[in-house]
Amino acid sequence: MRTPAGFECRFFYGDYYRGRKHEECRLIGNTKSPRHWTSNLCKNCPVPRILQANACANMVLSATVTGLPFGLARRVVIKAHCTLTQTDVTQPEIGCGQCHPLPDIFTPNSQC
Ligand code: SF4
Repeated sequence: MRTPAGFECRFFYGDYYRGRKHEECRLIGNTKSPRHWTSNLCKNCPVPRILQANACANMVLSATVTGLPFGLARRVVIKAHCTLTQTDVTQPEIGCGQCHPLPDIFTPNSQC
């Protein structure tokens, strides 16, 4: 579903049927204030970019909201974990490299 910021995100849910305006992020969920979700967090959230770049089914994302006191500079911080290799993924846009290894021609030690 398209977020209020205009990006496609599978974790966003909005219900606007018959005048309703219910929106939620199903990745962040219902966390308590000050780490709660608000729709303006979608504007700079890295998740739509990650999902567009890497569709690996083994990578699981988790998100937390961080920021300064009084709601200043709040943003979404993402952690990624690979359920296949049981490791944390440092670059979620690329992945851990186990499912989709690069062909030998792209590795530095290839004999070509
Ligand atoms: S905060 Fe990020 S993960 Fe949540 S709905 Fe918005 S874009 Fe998607």
